[in-house]
Amino acid sequence: MIIAVDGPTASGKGTISKALAAHFGLPFLDTGLLYRAVGRQVQLNQGSPEEPADALAGCMFPDSLLDDPVLRNEEVGGLASRVSTHPEVRAALNKRQVDFANQPSGALLDGRDIGTVIAPHADMKLFITAPAEVRAQRRYDEMQRRGINIDLANIIADIHIRDARDMGRADAPLKPAEDALLLDTGDLTIGDAVQAAIALVESRLRKS
Ligand code: C5P
Repeated sequence: MIIAVDGPTASGKGTISKALAAHFGLPFLDTGLLYRAVGRQVQLNQGSPEEPADALAGCMFPDSLLDDPVLRNEEVGGLASRVSTHPEVRAALNKRQVDFANQPSGALLDGRDIGTVIAPHADMKLFITAPAEVRAQRRYDEMQRRGINIDLANIIADIHIRDARDMGRADAPLKPAEDALLLDTGDLTIGDAVQAAIALVESRLRKS
């Protein structure tokens, strides 16, 4: 079984995806981490995320970079969003994701274009969303917990910029696949959101 989970930043899709993968015993790939590694490598190379050749050079990151906690920072998330607009970068990361999706054991991938580009044949597609203000508040709470002081207004502005960039890019924009099931986590606790996602997958499995 292949499960594709897409959605905007801080929608809860990361937590939901990990929980779904554990529940259904599927290997899990957080594809955002690949784009974050490219963004971080471009920074280490002192390149420009807007420059296609620099962004492509960033795709040669060592696998060890994927374990670097710095990838989780807001700044690196912004860099990831900028490099991800280049079709060259998306093409360079494509095979790794497609191979992961199609492994014999099945897989769960989360990202922005899993149901539309990477695994359009997925058995189950979820699109996780929540209003921008709710997502910003969650990101703010997470930062507070990690002891990082950042203004809520800055986070809201950053989320709007990232949404616009991810949804507006020409290549593989963030959008629900036509056959995706939508889950709005805005009014749900994370525990309830996970239960709702599991129930959606199980009801789909029962029908097929
Ligand atoms: O999900 P995460 O916040 O880690 O993703 C960082 C950025 O990487 C996103 O804002 C998006 O621009 C990009 N991304 C993408 N396609 C994916 C996963 C992430 O373009 N499949």
